[in-house]
Amino acid sequence: MSRPAAAGAAPSVVLYTSDLRLHDHPPLRAALAAGGPVVPLFVTDPGVAAAGFAVPNRLAFLADCLADLDAGLRARGGRLVLRTGDPVAEVCAAVRESGAREVHLAAGASGYAQAREDRLRDALAAQGCALHVHDAVITAVAPGELLPAGSDHYAVFSAYFKRWATAALRRPVAAPRKVPVPDGLSSAPLPARSKVTGTSPGLAPGGEDAARARLTGWLRGAVDGYEEGHDDLGGDRTSRLSPHLHFGTLSAAEAVARARSRGGPGAEAFVRQLCWRDFHHQLLAARPEAATADYRPRHDRWRTGGAAREETEAWRAGRTGYPMVDAAMRQLAHEGWLHNRGRMLAASFLAKTLYVDWRVGARHFLDLLVDGDVANNQLNWQWVAGTGTDTRPNRVLNPVRQGLRYDPEGRYVHRWVPELADLPAPLVHQPWKLPAAERARLDYPEPVVDLADALARFKAARSG
Ligand code: FAD
Repeated sequence: MSRPAAAGAAPSVVLYTSDLRLHDHPPLRAALAAGGPVVPLFVTDPGVAAAGFAVPNRLAFLADCLADLDAGLRARGGRLVLRTGDPVAEVCAAVRESGAREVHLAAGASGYAQAREDRLRDALAAQGCALHVHDAVITAVAPGELLPAGSDHYAVFSAYFKRWATAALRRPVAAPRKVPVPDGLSSAPLPARSKVTGTSPGLAPGGEDAARARLTGWLRGAVDGYEEGHDDLGGDRTSRLSPHLHFGTLSAAEAVARARSRGGPGAEAFVRQLCWRDFHHQLLAARPEAATADYRPRHDRWRTGGAAREETEAWRAGRTGYPMVDAAMRQLAHEGWLHNRGRMLAASFLAKTLYVDWRVGARHFLDLLVDGDVANNQLNWQWVAGTGTDTRPNRVLNPVRQGLRYDPEGRYVHRWVPELADLPAPLVHQPWKLPAAERARLDYPEPVVDLADALARFKAARSG
């Protein structure tokens, strides 16, 4: 697809955001097709830090992604241009300095991304430069592409999936062989992962190479066990592709296309999960306020007092006395990543069992998750809290039953809660059933709440 920069053709700027890759990148392809050199630009935006989104795990992963993108561009004769500041001002500066006539950008779903796009359009128009916003770069199907009658988004996943499953996807585009970049543009130094402090000890490496290797390995074998194994917490049998999808080092459209051509029940189940990602993005794009406001208000009067604060602290620390919840919270702290079933039961425990505002939990997840993003984190939290799109908003996950079902041999708890490593299943999910003397030797807390009392409190709150 790439061709040598035409003599005299004006440069184009590609503003990278959550799409840090060379493969299947329509904005880069379009910029190269304009015929001139390309300015691949990434702007470190202090607004992201000010909003509390620049947390160690994601900064460290981002450093890997930027280093890999720069290396990929250098291998193609170019380099990444890094700037720090307001992205609109920095894009305008890059346009002025390079004489660019076009700017290419992937459409974003969040309110922040949408506002940035609008500001950029106005600012570039004043400079006589065109902005091209490319859909379906961050998601497989663009938000707003599929609409139910009479609404600007789907609110029911099954209905969305039915349409999404038969929607035509664009064909993934190959990585360019050459990316000519104009000389003379200044660039900030690449951030170094090693300089980021406070990261989770088990944080995975980032970058497009790592993303592609993981997808290839996943589709080569483990995906076959996904349909029956995706909820097996002890088996850890999911793709772990979420950080790569979050940073866009892997294209969702390419992941769908390759999984479909791989075929089989496991690959189909995996593709269905990728649809959840698009579902939340299309919802957020239509309702950006759902990042913080209840999508379907239930008139909750969340607990906030001293006891709720202490219980929330125990939840954060992985010391609630409920082994599955504690295992999940400790995995989150250790890896900056958490299995979906672990996320669901930890979130249900906070929002329903402790009846603490889902925003408190969502914030804690965002502080740690390497894949933490507004669409998936906030809307999954809302789903679990029953203020989102769950069609059974008052269901409460019982951590003991979840353990017996999804960790029947206790492997997950043994791995993450070493105090209980010697307890066999099913006792490991109910250590309070041990004789008091043995319990005292465990150095493991008593349950912070009684599940039956908590359930009654939640039901009363939701029916009142
Ligand atoms: P796999 O099971 O291999 O699934 C493949 C891909 O499908 C994932 O990488 C992800 O992109 C997508 N996917 C799977 N389940 C969901 C889902 N329920 N919603 C949206 N996309 C999904 N996912 C994030 O990417 N970022 C978040 O911040 C995030 N926060 C969450 C918070 C809560 C409370 C819950 C319940 C879920 C959250 N999820 C989030 C969704 C899901 O838990 C993760 O995407 C998944 O665990 C990632 O692991 P995986 O890549 O191995 O997933």
